[in-house]
Amino acid sequence: MKQQSTIYFATVVHCTGDPWASGTSAVEVLKDGYLKVTNGLVDSVGAESDLTADELQHCTQVDHRGYTITPGFIDGHLHYPQTSVIASYGTQLLEWLEKYTFPAEAKFSDEAHAKVVAEFFIKELLRNGTTTGFVFATVHRQSVDAIFNAAKNVNMRLGSGKVMMDRNCPENLCDTAATGYEESQELIDKWHGKDRLMYVVTPRFAPTSTEAQLEFSGKLFNDNDGVYLQSHVAENKAEMQWVAELFPWSRSYLDVYDRYGLLGQRAVYGHCIYLDDGDLKRMSDTGTVAAFCPTSNLFLGSGLFDIVSARDHNVRTVMASDVGGGTSFSMLRTADEAYKVTQMAGNTITPAQLFYELTLGGAQALSIDNMVGDFVPGKEADFVVHDLHATEVLSQRVEHAVTIEEELFALIILGDDRCTVATYLMGEKVYPR
Ligand SMILES: [Zn+2]
Repeated sequence: MKQQSTIYFATVVHCTGDPWASGTSAVEVLKDGYLKVTNGLVDSVGAESDLTADELQHCTQVDHRGYTITPGFIDGHLHYPQTSVIASYGTQLLEWLEKYTFPAEAKFSDEAHAKVVAEFFIKELLRNGTTTGFVFATVHRQSVDAIFNAAKNVNMRLGSGKVMMDRNCPENLCDTAATGYEESQELIDKWHGKDRLMYVVTPRFAPTSTEAQLEFSGKLFNDNDGVYLQSHVAENKAEMQWVAELFPWSRSYLDVYDRYGLLGQRAVYGHCIYLDDGDLKRMSDTGTVAAFCPTSNLFLGSGLFDIVSARDHNVRTVMASDVGGGTSFSMLRTADEAYKVTQMAGNTITPAQLFYELTLGGAQALSIDNMVGDFVPGKEADFVVHDLHATEVLSQRVEHAVTIEEELFALIILGDDRCTVATYLMGEKVYPR
């Protein structure tokens, strides 16, 4: 294949390690730097002055000087069919599902509707610099086709799966243990590993699945090599009580999933707010991932997830918008709220740790760090060009910043989609401001 190389000039920032272990030295900052991409993969990063005359002569050059390039952001848990119910007033989890979410999801039996929303949703992710998401669809198989097609059109690395619900939901959103299993298996065969797409077995949460369905979920998860599992756990106190009533034999909410083989390194659970020490130990022992959804946890009045405590228990974590319970597609807005929630828990998360959670740390939690998350040569070139002068307030704050940590922190606390100059997937520009 003919080598197609492009050099992007900018300040380049990425994690080369884990700031939870090694502090700010885990973040590499290349002022007057470059990112070189060859055939969609990272070729090298470095200082502009390191480039040879031969490279400069033979590569396409793109000038993003004055801007900052980072790896694309990773969103570990969100719902594309809830795009239209974002910012719906006045309820907590269980009523919010009944009143807003289920009616919105029912519309996805219409393939044309699913396509329109999926395309809007992917555009919104890219506008916010999110290059990978783990996305819930609806119970309808065509909703999965729609989101995978929309991601495929821009060559995006994305996980999704058909929601399985066979009880405690409206009839038009109900599958059965058998059809949920069969349709999920068909979708796995159709989509998993195609292009950059990953299938995620998706029982919504324990209250809407019978024990038979949870058992089938375990079978799908464990019998299909490389597929993921996503669900919700310990989000809301009324939900906790409901689960205890529905599964009287269980030691805890997490124990329900554990019983059916639904924990593991490729299992991602939204919220994880009300886990006890026994649960945290099971999460850690099995490598199960907790998705931290701060804007959703605040908006639905669910509670405060303490990421520092989770990390102290060796639980793997990923940051997540949880749109539409979450209130922003922006992972910057999400990290901003994560910082504040951590403050409320009496702990502190550093700018480097926040940045890591959005990039390499998220990739590691989702076991995709061999492909994305930083600028190690050979990785898929998913990256974002940020403008740290996009707003007046951010601009003057950055002017007063002494360290890159301060600049990153200002971007996280004050930034949003206005800061995204461009988003690239495998070296192709898929969003221009
Ligand atoms: Zn969710």
